[in-house]
Amino acid sequence: MQHDLIVIGSGPAGSAAACVAAGAGLRVALIDKSAFPRDKLCGGGVTGRSMRYLDEVFGLAPEPDLFLASTRFRLHFEGRRIGGQDPAPPLYMTMRNAFDSALHARATAAGAEVIAPAKITAIDTETPSVTLADGRTLRAPVVIGADGANSLVARALYGRPFDPAQIGFGLEVELIRDAVPDMLSDDTTEIDLGAANWGYGWAFPKPDTITLGVGGVHMRNPDLKAHFGRYLHRHAPRLAESGAIRCKGAFLPFGAYRRQPGQGQVLLAGDAAGLVDPITGEGIAWAIRSGAFAGQAAFEALDAGTPARAMPAYRARLHYIHREMDAARRIRALLYARPVRPLFPRTIERHPGMSRGYLRLLAGELDYADLGPKVLLKLARRLGGAMFARTT
Ligand SMILES: Cc1cc2nc3c(=O)[nH]c(=O)nc-3n(C[C@H](O)[C@H](O)[C@H](O)COP(=O)(O)OP(=O)(O)OC[C@H]3O[C@@H](n4cnc5c(N)ncnc54)[C@H](O)[C@@H]3O)c2cc1C
Repeated sequence: MQHDLIVIGSGPAGSAAACVAAGAGLRVALIDKSAFPRDKLCGGGVTGRSMRYLDEVFGLAPEPDLFLASTRFRLHFEGRRIGGQDPAPPLYMTMRNAFDSALHARATAAGAEVIAPAKITAIDTETPSVTLADGRTLRAPVVIGADGANSLVARALYGRPFDPAQIGFGLEVELIRDAVPDMLSDDTTEIDLGAANWGYGWAFPKPDTITLGVGGVHMRNPDLKAHFGRYLHRHAPRLAESGAIRCKGAFLPFGAYRRQPGQGQVLLAGDAAGLVDPITGEGIAWAIRSGAFAGQAAFEALDAGTPARAMPAYRARLHYIHREMDAARRIRALLYARPVRPLFPRTIERHPGMSRGYLRLLAGELDYADLGPKVLLKLARRLGGAMFARTT
C-alpha cells in the first residue's frame, strides 16, 4: 500500500485529520473533489471554541488577515431587539475560501499528499479502497470520510448521507456593505431567533461584506425561502424588492449525529458524522476536533499494528462531543416546544442573563456540560412562569 491513511475531503475536519496523522508520521493521501481555494457555503462564524482547536491542531492564531473580530452582539426576534451586548466576547468572522485554504496548506505542509481536484468513482468500505476517475485505486488500512454533509463515504456505508427527517438546511447570501444600511460600517454580529423555525437568521460582518442567512431544521421549514426573503427585506429592503438576489442553499447536519461514526476501518468526521450544534449551528469547532481525534486514533492503531482499533479509540474520544450534542438537543426540544415558543422573546427580554448565556455558548466560553441541572431548571422555571402568567 502506498498510503497508511486516506482522508476524503479537506474541509476543517479532513485537514485536521491529515495534519495530525501526517504530523505523526503516517503516509496520508488527502483527496478533495475541488482544487483549493474553493468556496464553501457557511456563515464563517468562528467561535472561541473553534479558535482553541485551530491553535491546538494547526497552530493558527486569530490573525487579522484571516479573521474580523466582532465584539458587538445583538439578539433579535422577528426584527425586534430582545437582547445584546457591547462589548461582547469576540466572535471571529472569516471567509471560508481563505480559511479552508489556510488549513489545507497546513495539512500539506505536515506532509499529506494532496490529490485534488479528484473525482471518486467507487469506495470499497471493506478492503478499504478508493477508485478515482483517472483509473487509480488507492488502498490504505484506514480511511477517514470528512467529505461534508452530503458525504459520499457515508452514502457508501449506509446508502444515504443523512436522515432527511433530522437534517437542517441553510440559505445564505453575501451582500456588499452598501446594501445593508443598518450594518454599513460596524462589526456587529446579529442573530434573529424568529427568522426560521427550529433555527435562526444571522447577519455576520466581514471586512467588505455581510453574510446574511437563515437556517433551521429542514422538515420544520417547508418554505425557508420565504423566511429568507423576509429576513433579507428587514436588512436590505431595496435589494429584496428588486428580486436581484440569488441565495444559495446547503444542508447542515443540525445535531443528528451518528452514534457509531463509521464502520470497520472507515471513520467519519465533521459534518459527515453529523457533528453540528443543534442550537447554534456551529460546525467548524467539532469538525476540527473530530478530525484531529480521527487522525490521532488512526495513528495510534496503526502504530500498534492493530488498524481495527482505530474505530473504538476514535469513538471513545468523541464521547464528550456526543454528550454536548445530546444536551443541546434536549434544550432545543424545550426551547422550541410549541407552547413555549411564543413566550420565548419576552422571557429573554426580561432576563438579560439568558441572552448573555446564549452569547457565551455561541462564543465558546460555555459548553452545555457547564450549564448543569440547576441552570436548566431555572430555564424551565422561567419559561413555565411565563406560560403561567399568560394563562392567568
Ligand atoms: C448555510 C450554512 C452556514 C453555516 N455557518 C456556520 C458558521 O457560521 N459557523 C460554524 O461553525 N459552522 C457553520 N456552518 C457549518 C459548517 O459549515 C460545517 O459544519 C463545517 O464546514 C464542517 O466541516 P467539514 O470539514 O466536516 O465539511 P466541509 O467543510 O463541508 O468540507 C468537506 C470537504 O469535502 C470535499 N468533498 C465533498 N464531497 C467530496 C467527494 N465526493 N470527493 C472528494 N471530496 C469531497 C469538499 O470539497 C470539502 O472540501 C454552516 C453551514 C451552513 C450550510
